[in-house]
Amino acid sequence: SKAALFDAENKVKITFKDVAGLEEAKEEIQEIVEFLKNPTKFTILGGKIPKGALLVGPPGTGKTLLAKAVAGEADVPFFSLSGSDFVEMFVGVGAARVRDLFKQAKAKAPCIIFIDEIDAIGRSRSRGQVPGGNDERENTLNSLLVEMDGFSTDSGVIILAATNRPDTLDSALLRPGRFDRQISIDKPDINGRTEIFNVHLKPLTLSTDVDAKKLAAQTPGFAGAEIANVCNEAALIAARRNKKAVEMQDFNDAIDRVIGGLEKKNKIISPEE
Ligand code: ATP
Repeated sequence: SKAALFDAENKVKITFKDVAGLEEAKEEIQEIVEFLKNPTKFTILGGKIPKGALLVGPPGTGKTLLAKAVAGEADVPFFSLSGSDFVEMFVGVGAARVRDLFKQAKAKAPCIIFIDEIDAIGRSRSRGQVPGGNDERENTLNSLLVEMDGFSTDSGVIILAATNRPDTLDSALLRPGRFDRQISIDKPDINGRTEIFNVHLKPLTLSTDVDAKKLAAQTPGFAGAEIANVCNEAALIAARRNKKAVEMQDFNDAIDRVIGGLEKKNKIISPEE
């Protein structure tokens, strides 16, 4: 829940098979699954397991999903919080939350800590700052840095963080021993979209005319989140039409609706254009 500011999911059921496409990212992040499953195998020759990795990519491309799948694959607890929750926080609260999160995570290790929208906490400290302004964000960032430095890599806690603005991050976060690995998560190409459609079509009752490849061809520029949304909308549209199965026509209407929603959102963001 939002009120708790971080959620601990002790049993994550999501695995790599729920994450369509993203083959390279899955391959890279597989290493972290191995670290979590069998840390001593890697440290025996004196090597240090990385503390964290940064998932970089546009909104809705499956960063959160992939982080959860790492926890699911390794069968470890998943702790998460979002940087945006810290934006308007009272003095001291953000830093205390971060300390509390690490304390809980260490007690449940091996585990994953996932920080969504880390740019909301981790923006460069020198960037466009009003003196005396936004101190709490800075406190929170400092507390995160202190916590990341304060645990040893064999503690079994691995931190994954997501951002779509890696260029704005404070360089302190990217230093070796912190988020020194970056995994890029791009928008899917037509094959990726076909695979994502296949995942989200699976639970639906479909008419035989529904074709994932055609749907992928009709949705250039869509991220996974929008594809999931199209599938759900199509099922609701078909149900409203009292159909026994979702047909291609329902998908076409759902795609139009999702495109309409995206256009509206863009208008709100940039009213001058
Ligand atoms: P944001 O940056 O906005 O937080 P995100 O990259 O973390 O976005 P997710 O929250 O993981 O995106 O994706 C939202 C939903 O979209 C997922 O729960 C899933 O239903 C769907 N989705 C996104 N990408 C994929 C994918 N590669 N395979 C299957 N489903 C996907």
